[in-house]
Amino acid sequence: MAGNITFSQKVKDELGRVKPRTEHCEAAAAEAHKYFTLIKKEYTISEEILKQRCCRRTFLREAFVIAGTMADPEKSYHFELNCPSMAKAQFIKDIINEFEGMDAKIVRRGKSFVVYLKGSDQIVDMLGIMEASIAYMELENVRILKSVRNKLNRVVNCDAANIAKTVSASRRQTDDIMYIKESAGFDDLPVSLRKIAEVRLKYPEASLTELGECLDPPVGKSGVNHRLRKLSEYAAAMRNKRGEGND
Ligand SMILES: [Zn+2]
Repeated sequence: MAGNITFSQKVKDELGRVKPRTEHCEAAAAEAHKYFTLIKKEYTISEEILKQRCCRRTFLREAFVIAGTMADPEKSYHFELNCPSMAKAQFIKDIINEFEGMDAKIVRRGKSFVVYLKGSDQIVDMLGIMEASIAYMELENVRILKSVRNKLNRVVNCDAANIAKTVSASRRQTDDIMYIKESAGFDDLPVSLRKIAEVRLKYPEASLTELGECLDPPVGKSGVNHRLRKLSEYAAAMRNKRGEGND
């Protein structure tokens, strides 16, 4: 695949191969050429010529081939048609916005008036309006890939955050349990707390659910959480008593 053909050029190549299928569409295509290539700044197109939807599609297709550019969707979503006057830009904008969901805008750039579209939804729709079906699918693929990539990143980040949270919680719990063990031993602890203390030390990387499953009988996540909290409170009370104060 030739790497240096821009997305814009690819769309133009594709649109160039779409030929008007009827006489009225052919007239609309010819009108687009006059509209964009005649030096005259004002050029009025008779309403009759663009009355039909197929003709408006054809007109926009030709307009893009002559005066359009599009950003590479891998980089950003931007579509524009470069018009020589405000009146012409306004006219093009109205034709685009007659299609459902379209919200073309105009911005002045030097001597030109640029009709533009932002956002992948509108740009994908615009490719559809112009009947650039290959580019349409290519852009959809890019969109899907981007969204999968984003979701994947979110999941990965979220997992990493959860693991970090589990690890730091486990470290705090382990510290508290070791403190109890070294200062008083587990003998004074209620059996339920002693058991959870033992499995926590044995499996420092296990989640609360996994710890609960190590107990006999098994204990649910909230039960495990409750017991570990009790142990931490116990350790805090011991530290206080010994004047070591926990924060
Ligand atoms: Zn037509």
